[in-house]
Amino acid sequence: MNTFVELGLSKQALARLKGIGFTEPTEIQSKAIRPMLDGCDVMASAQTGSGKTAAYALPVIDRLGKRAKTCRALVLLPTRELALQVKAEFERFGAHGQIKTSVLYGGTGYGNQTRELRAGPDVIVATPGRLLDFIQRRMVDLSTVEMLILDEADRLLDLGFAPQIRKVIERVPTRRQTAMFSATFDLRVERLAKEYLTDPVRVGVCAKRIEPASIEQQFHKTNEDEKDALLLKLISDAGQGSILVFTRTRRKAKKVAARLRAAAVEAQEIHGDVSQNKRETTLDHYRKGKFNVLVATDVAARGLDIPTISHVVNYDLPQSPSDYVHRIGRTGRAGRSGCSHTFVCDSDHGSLRQIEKIVGRTLMSRPISAPLSSIKRAPRRHFGRRPASR
Ligand code: AMP
Repeated sequence: MNTFVELGLSKQALARLKGIGFTEPTEIQSKAIRPMLDGCDVMASAQTGSGKTAAYALPVIDRLGKRAKTCRALVLLPTRELALQVKAEFERFGAHGQIKTSVLYGGTGYGNQTRELRAGPDVIVATPGRLLDFIQRRMVDLSTVEMLILDEADRLLDLGFAPQIRKVIERVPTRRQTAMFSATFDLRVERLAKEYLTDPVRVGVCAKRIEPASIEQQFHKTNEDEKDALLLKLISDAGQGSILVFTRTRRKAKKVAARLRAAAVEAQEIHGDVSQNKRETTLDHYRKGKFNVLVATDVAARGLDIPTISHVVNYDLPQSPSDYVHRIGRTGRAGRSGCSHTFVCDSDHGSLRQIEKIVGRTLMSRPISAPLSSIKRAPRRHFGRRPASR
């Protein structure tokens, strides 16, 4: 593995990394930073949690050099949560006003984003729909873009953004550097890469994270009727860390959160029926530890980077097997350890086999330590303050 110095990063970047406390590059950084600095197109297979944001943000900032007040780098990504995190990483690596980054995402007013754009950002981090809105309003000009990054390309395509991505790329000069980061490379992602990347340097990273053994994965055979009792048992055993519970649908997320609250667990929910503002407040409170159990759907929790998440519970298996990896990657972050619990019903076995193919091993199911009859009677742990009604 190379050191950051050997990768050819500037003195300024090295000083910043030292200040942040990154001592050595992750595998994806070790493989992607040099070709990115050289201006090559890059196709990188990397998951969230692998350090992929720094793998492109560091070379982009170095190549930008200093502030020019025109948009020279564009990062397209699938969700608002990821957009906010990527912006924060750019700000961390390019501190002291070296460059300015704007973030654009939908589901919220245009005011703040318009103000940010007026300041002339060097980097725009955006979800495709909102970016197109701003292009139509003639508030964004992409004709000066030199570097284009497609982050979580598989997810962008899963969410149906292909037409918007194409419309955006049509407005970016063809003489540019393009990099694509994706957890999975299926035919659709390959097709997109073929269309928009030129002789890309391919860098692959096995599904390894910064701390490879940091997530303990457990599977529990159950049925729909027993899931709530099992969840309460896990919550009661979990200690003080934050727990993220995934359901497959919005309706289920609402129901599970309501049932937890009825059992005196302070649980909140984020999903497509929750307004963007409410989602942001909920996430802020979750991050600050004001409550410990968050129930979420895949899209709403995409890209969350909250180091205190100690447990991920897959109340339902995800629709797409690749989401399993994204989900469990919400824990074990920033060098901490984490645990994932997946509930598996008889009807889930086909999906489980597909997940096994992706993680490359057989996943053993474990009985939960106490019999379910006692779980139902077990004293429940209350997180944070109890609801006012109790
Ligand atoms: P990402 O995969 O970009 O979402 O990064 C996952 C987490 O790892 C983020 O909290 C990063 O700040 C952190 N990280 C990235 N690179 C390194 C590194 N070289 N050393 C330690 N932590 C890192």
